[in-house]
Amino acid sequence: MIPSAFEYHAPASLADAIALLVRLGDDARPLAGGHSLLPMMKLRFAAPAHLVDLGRIPDLRGIAEVGGALHVGAMTTENDLVWSKLLAEKVPLLVEGARAIADPQVRYRGTVGGDLAHGDPGNDHPALMLALDAAFAVRGAGGERMVAAADFFQGPYMTALQPGEVLTRIEVPIPPPGTGWAYEKLKRKIGDFATAAAAVLLRMDGERIAAASIALTNVGATPLKARDAEQALVGRRLDEAALTEAAQLAMEICDPVADQRGDADYKRAMAGEMTRRALLRARSRAA
Ligand SMILES: Cc1cc2nc3c(=O)[nH]c(=O)nc-3n(C[C@H](O)[C@H](O)[C@H](O)COP(=O)(O)OP(=O)(O)OC[C@H]3O[C@@H](n4cnc5c(N)ncnc54)[C@H](O)[C@@H]3O)c2cc1C
Repeated sequence: MIPSAFEYHAPASLADAIALLVRLGDDARPLAGGHSLLPMMKLRFAAPAHLVDLGRIPDLRGIAEVGGALHVGAMTTENDLVWSKLLAEKVPLLVEGARAIADPQVRYRGTVGGDLAHGDPGNDHPALMLALDAAFAVRGAGGERMVAAADFFQGPYMTALQPGEVLTRIEVPIPPPGTGWAYEKLKRKIGDFATAAAAVLLRMDGERIAAASIALTNVGATPLKARDAEQALVGRRLDEAALTEAAQLAMEICDPVADQRGDADYKRAMAGEMTRRALLRARSRAA
């Protein structure tokens, strides 16, 4: 319940935040919504000597359409995502995903950038961003670099972020009109992390699948892109045989850890089932 003592910093600009993080090094952590970092500090799993609050940097928050993409500021809250008309119109998968995260209070504070930067395989945004083929703008003392979602997640709590770097913006390609979507999450109760979940985008060409994107939550050390399952679906009808094959191929890449949510076999089976359900719902929404 009681975190270790720390110094609090509230820079008013991104440049100041990065300068602080670089100067303070390993002793400092960015603070976003605080709903993963503070719980870890209260349990003393993390004890940073400095917190650099990103909450007073206005240009880190908001959603804008830029070319064929939506640019989402890292400090945009889950609640902002849930209620964004632009997002609902252009990338409804992220609205459905954000609604499945935590609870109203946590969603008022928790940010999409924090959810991604935390690197917890239990978090939902990583697989959503993998399914959407998003890219992350990361800024450090040396300037900005872009990292594809597929290269960002490296292991439990390990990402491509280097010390002194801030995730500033997520660039989400807008799926073509008519793309179906679904995020199917199995959880024990509201606010629980997924036992297994699947994010799906589906494009149809008449009755045949033109393209499928499938990513899985909490069934491996990182979010997983089910590439073989995606490939197996192209050019086919979404019939029972295709669903069974896609679910099977998705299950084959899973490597879940046993915990209070179930053993590895159960979680793997549920990843297959979530894949199947997400495909069916995405199909019903595709035009
Ligand atoms: C009861 C409860 C239920 C929850 N359920 C879910 C759930 O179902 N699904 C889910 O996905 N999440 C869930 N969460 C986690 C929640 O969504 C967190 O808010 C989220 O994981 C982290 O976002 P944050 O903005 O709170 O980040 P913080 O907790 O402030 O930071 C998390 C980590 O990321 C780093 N960081 C944050 N922002 C940046 C940045 N811009 N650049 C670089 N590093 C950064 C911090 O230094 C820290 O290490 C839950 C949390 C609670 C308390």
